[in-house]
Amino acid sequence: MSRIVYVNGQYFPEEEASISIFDRGFLMADAVYEVTSVLDGKLLEFEGHLKRLKRSLSELNMPEPSVFNDLLEIHRKLVNDNQVEQGGVYLQVTRGVADRDFVYPKDVEPTLVIFTQSKDILGSPLVNSGMKVISIDDLRWGRRDIKTVQLLYPSMGKMMAKAADCDDAWMVEDGYVTEGTSNNAYIVVGNKIITRELSNDILHGITRASVLRYAKEAQMIVEERSFSVDEVKSADEAFITSASTFVMPVVEFDGVLIGTGKPGNVSKRLREIYIEESRNKAI
Ligand code: PMP
Repeated sequence: MSRIVYVNGQYFPEEEASISIFDRGFLMADAVYEVTSVLDGKLLEFEGHLKRLKRSLSELNMPEPSVFNDLLEIHRKLVNDNQVEQGGVYLQVTRGVADRDFVYPKDVEPTLVIFTQSKDILGSPLVNSGMKVISIDDLRWGRRDIKTVQLLYPSMGKMMAKAADCDDAWMVEDGYVTEGTSNNAYIVVGNKIITRELSNDILHGITRASVLRYAKEAQMIVEERSFSVDEVKSADEAFITSASTFVMPVVEFDGVLIGTGKPGNVSKRLREIYIEESRNKAI
């Protein structure tokens, strides 16, 4: 079924939508994005995604699209028109269209593309089996806190994981895990939930912020610090968070079983809390 998508102020059937070959998103990866999950036909964490988008744009001196204040309405219309019950809304802003040059163009209207993707998030088989993860060197650039569309290395990482018959890769720098290819990474040791502290080294996950808040509210102990590859192998549990997976258990790392090799209780509990809370707050 053809979707209705949004491009620069207009709605099109997907096969009729297009952007210029001179778009800087295409030529230079000069673009940022957000993915907002949809559950029960409603948007999760919309405010958080909008805030992070604002920050990404500002860090790159990219102008905000003129319809910035209408983004909620556009998201809702797309979810509604495409009858998305579960899945996500992908939004991308590029610096716009200009003759190819490294220097940022002046007075150019940013390109804005928004489309929906239906996906069964709740029914993923990985919820019960847990994920198998490999470690890979983190070879990305130094501003991973900005959500840019430079996703080639994460894509290569997913392919390396697939080649190793695994589900994903955690990236490692100086012996310490930064994050997953498209998610934040956590271990559980005793009664502590450990995840890397916020910095330019990782994306400031919207799901991460909520999960840590819910964990603290449930009297769990949270430690925000870097953890090593060895710590993962001897951890009691591990999991990831992201808008497209919520909380997902990790049961194997570089061929070593984590804890019992089954999804752990802390991961399961956090997943339940996250789904319940975000469902209640969905708009
Ligand atoms: N880290 C990276 C590298 C990501 O790509 C993502 C998801 N886009 C995340 C973390 C998780 O962020 P969020 O919870 O906002 O989806």
